[in-house]
This record gives sequence, C-alpha cells and structure tokens, in this order.
Amino acid sequence: MSKPNALISALGGAGKRLTAARRAVAEAIAEQDGHFTAEDVLAASRSRRRVVGRATVFRSLELLADLHLVERVDLPSGDHAYVACEPDAHHHHVVCSTCGRSVEVGELGLGPILGRIEASTGFVIDSHRLEVFGQCPDCQADAQHRSA
Ligand SMILES: [Zn+2]
Ligand SMILES: [Zn+2]
Ligand SMILES: [Zn+2]
Repeated sequence: MSKPNALISALGGAGKRLTAARRAVAEAIAEQDGHFTAEDVLAASRSRRRVVGRATVFRSLELLADLHLVERVDLPSGDHAYVACEPDAHHHHVVCSTCGRSVEVGELGLGPILGRIEASTGFVIDSHRLEVFGQCPDCQADAQHRSA
C-alpha cells in the first residue's frame, strides 16, 4: 500500500499541475488494499464525497504507471487491475487471486532462464514482465478454516 504523499508528490512532480481532482485520486489510490481497478478508485473517491471524473482517474493511473508507482496487472479473470509499486528496483508481483494482496519479489534465478530463452530464440532480451497468481497465506488459512 502506498503512502498518499508519495503519490501526490509524484502526480505533482511530473510537471503537471496538481489539481484537487488529482489529489483526490492519489488519496483514493493510497487507501486501496491489494490490487484495485479504476472502478475501485472511482468508488473510493465517491465514498469520500470527492467525486472525480472517470477520465481523470484513467489519466492519473496512466501517469502513475509511467512513473512505476503503480503497475498494471492482467488478472487471470481477464480484468485489468493495478497494484501499488516500489519504483526503484526491478521486481515482479505475486498477487493473491482471492484478496488481491501483492508481494514484490526479485529475479529469484530468472537470469539463467532468460539466457536459455535468448539461446533458443536468438533474441537479445532487454525487458520482461512476470505476474504470478495464487493464494496468499491468510487466504489459505481462511480456506482451511472454512473446510474444517
Ligand atoms: Zn511493481
Ligand atoms: Zn489473499
Ligand atoms: Zn525480472
């Protein structure tokens, strides 16, 4: 979960005027737990009685994605969602399919695998994305609880 100030200063620091609407979007994003959709951000801003336009939400999410403060993930359901992100280091997300919590993980031995992909395809690989989905420990415990 991101701090609203980081998001607010990012939206302000990207050479864009920080409007009240952008600030409301940043605050709505900061209160999201786990992955979230543009609709979730709209609903959060509505519940705070700070209604912002759909276009503003989408533009802000795009801007934050460009700055790597949020990252787009394609859910197994086919829906598109976003997760809050650490902008600095290259990483991947492990996303819980039930509650949406996401954990950032590093390369974990991916380097040699990329080397094998280069060797077998002749490509020079310069970037990659990896999204991993499953059940987080809390949701596993919940599921066990329910079936017991
Ligand atoms: Zn990320
Ligand atoms: Zn979970
Ligand atoms: Zn990687």
